[in-house]
Amino acid sequence: MGKDYYNILGVSKTASQEEIKKVFRQKAHQYHPDKQGGDEAKFKEINEAYQVLGDEKKRAQYDQFGSAFEHGQAGGGFSGFDGFRDFSGFANGFNVNFEDLGDVFGGLGDIFGFSARGGQGRRGGTRARRGNDIEVTLTIDFFEAVFGAEKEISLQKTVKCDKCGGNGAEPGAKIETCKSCKGSGRQIRMQRTIFGQVQTQVSCPDCNGEGKTFSEKCKKCGGRGIVREMTNLKVKIPAGIDEGESIRLSGQGEAGAKGASAGDLYLKIRVKPDKRFERDGYDIKSTSEIKFSQAALGDKIEVATVDGPVKLKIPEGTQSDTVFRLRDRGIIKLQGRGRGDHLVKVIVKTPTGLSRKQRKALEELGV
Ligand SMILES: [Zn+2]
Ligand SMILES: [Zn+2]
Repeated sequence: MGKDYYNILGVSKTASQEEIKKVFRQKAHQYHPDKQGGDEAKFKEINEAYQVLGDEKKRAQYDQFGSAFEHGQAGGGFSGFDGFRDFSGFANGFNVNFEDLGDVFGGLGDIFGFSARGGQGRRGGTRARRGNDIEVTLTIDFFEAVFGAEKEISLQKTVKCDKCGGNGAEPGAKIETCKSCKGSGRQIRMQRTIFGQVQTQVSCPDCNGEGKTFSEKCKKCGGRGIVREMTNLKVKIPAGIDEGESIRLSGQGEAGAKGASAGDLYLKIRVKPDKRFERDGYDIKSTSEIKFSQAALGDKIEVATVDGPVKLKIPEGTQSDTVFRLRDRGIIKLQGRGRGDHLVKVIVKTPTGLSRKQRKALEELGV
């Protein structure tokens, strides 16, 4: 029954703390029960291994007293995250670096979030938790990025159940005091861990810590207060947004179970390239071809900008590749006022396919 934590994490005995942390993150992601192909048992095992190996002191103890260490956890050792949140207050005789763990979990989203599936009801310590964040990619065209736009997006997400209004009770059901916790919303749990007996106070899994239950659960959502639905959402895209930037829509992520606050929605913006215009910061670049005679003698040409055609004066003697600046015809700046410029690169077209007459005229000019 002895557990080889190094083997479980798949690291060598000489692995650095950095390495261990990295491997743990990867594996925790891989086996997270909320993920497809996740594995709760494996996930807990990995977590257990990390709690020891990820702490220099405990790792040293484990290295030295390996078998004795294993002995102490005959009852199954750490039972994953049960009561995790409340652990710090009851940490009898051991010091888990919760800040460090918090950091690790930060990258995983809400790691406690597998109450939604699998271990529902059995998982103590899981308070009504905030809904998940969602990231959606939204593709807009060049002009929408320049001037802003209002877009409608559709996405599948959990929303508050409209039948029960989110409280999980079948309409007409009676409110009862939770029998499991007698209304306190909390349960005391004794846990055998590798560090001895630990008393943990967890929120009551039967009433989600609310102290109340209903005589009948909502039939639409099964008492969770949330359902998964296709949702349409109107979003305002601010003028000046650029490729790769994100818009955070607070509270538009997935609804939290039992009235907990919703997560956020992140819109990752992709901008379709435009055939005529290229963005460079807040400036817009384009090229215009002019005739050799226009370059030599000067002229007024029309340049396409995002505001429509604009007249541009070409001075006589203009060389190819000269760049002209049209002020305030660029991208609208996100913060503060003002706009970027439009930069026009002029390309002088050397004439081809000359007629005999044209050829003769050019020869006579000698330029
Ligand atoms: Zn419902
Ligand atoms: Zn209860």
